[in-house]
Amino acid sequence: TPLLEARDLCKTYPNGHVTAVDGVSLSIPAGEYASIMGPSGSGKSTLLNLLGGLDKPTTGEVYFRGKAYSAFPSLDNLRAQHIGFIFQSFHLLPTLTSLENVQIPMFETSRGPSERESRARELLEVVNMSHRADQLPARLSVGERQRVAIARSLANDPELLLADEPTGNLDSKNGEEVLELFDMLHKERGVTLIVITHGDEVGQRAERRLYYRDGKVTGDRHD
Ligand code: ADP
Ligand code: ADP
Repeated sequence: TPLLEARDLCKTYPNGHVTAVDGVSLSIPAGEYASIMGPSGSGKSTLLNLLGGLDKPTTGEVYFRGKAYSAFPSLDNLRAQHIGFIFQSFHLLPTLTSLENVQIPMFETSRGPSERESRARELLEVVNMSHRADQLPARLSVGERQRVAIARSLANDPELLLADEPTGNLDSKNGEEVLELFDMLHKERGVTLIVITHGDEVGQRAERRLYYRDGKVTGDRHD
């Protein structure tokens, strides 16, 4: 069974009649590092939101380890426990420190306060941000913000990480650091990664490149 599977996914937004996802089927085995490349406006974010259960398809179905999303009473638990999300614009809460932001997903679990804090400190160490644990996001550089967001995405040890243009707001040096972290998570921890990009810096590192255009997968290349 693949870790994640999409069958005949379509998403049409009601206003504007835009079909952002137009019949996508794909299968992602556990442990794969896949990139999705395509021009701006082609529907990549919409597809990723469907794959992560953040949005519902108009038609079609997504399966996590063979179980249909529509068969879950709520996807909250699946998302909190098994899927980490990373966004172009970080989505950190501005009033919380790095240490507190990293703990947010842990509130969905039974971890107590001291376990949450010690785990958050470990994760900040993984992304090399221990020295900034008590800072608010506004005091961090954009590269540092994304590293905190990556630590947060790992809070509950997800098998799957979904990243939407994670280096889009970063300069090349900081972007490179984020991609090094992804390589490490893939190789050392066996995390499955699906990363959206409109450049090809991610595609060079991923073992699979999905080309996406006008809501459709137009190419699928494996190393
Ligand atoms: P990409 O990530 O490739 O830039 P998006 O998935 O963000 O593409 O957008 C695909 C198309 O869907 C665009 O035309 C965009 O304007 C439209 N779109 C995205 N989100 C919405 C929404 N919530 N409501 C209506 N149209 C949307
Ligand atoms: P991010 O950088 O976080 O991916 P986006 O600009 O892609 O932010 O999208 C922000 C939100 O706006 C998303 O929830 C998306 O669905 C929505 N959105 C994007 N395009 C449109 C649109 N044309 N009409 C309505 N909502 C849209």
